Amino acid sequence: MNITHIEHIGIAVKNLEESIAYYENVLGFKCYAVEEVKEQKVKTAFFMVGQTKLELLESTDPEGPIGKFLEKKGEGVHHLAFAAQNLEGALSEMDEKGVTLIDKTPRKGAEGLSIAFLHPKSTHGVLTELCEDKNK
Ligand code: ZN
Repeated sequence: MNITHIEHIGIAVKNLEESIAYYENVLGFKCYAVEEVKEQKVKTAFFMVGQTKLELLESTDPEGPIGKFLEKKGEGVHHLAFAAQNLEGALSEMDEKGVTLIDKTPRKGAEGLSIAFLHPKSTHGVLTELCEDKNK
């Protein structure tokens, strides 16, 4: 397992525009990208905080993962994403160690990253994403 840093923190929000205004006007960060990820039924907004990003997630469909999360838990921290090298290898290592994988193979996430989620029931309650930037 080769995790290098926290790539981003995913935060579920009800309204992307209002949330961006908070992060920009109150915290002073600059939103550098807004992107819809259709497969995930979300619209995302990104901020850079040091080398870690914040990923705001607004649901585009109440039946999508963020829609359901908002319904159940309301706004708040949704997942933690680690930057991993050799994502396929990391996933099979996780699998061997008994971690429940939501994604058995990497799929495409925002910003062109390869991503995979680990189930919070085997990560002590934290929905965990591993991501790899293959363009680097
Ligand atoms: Zn994420």
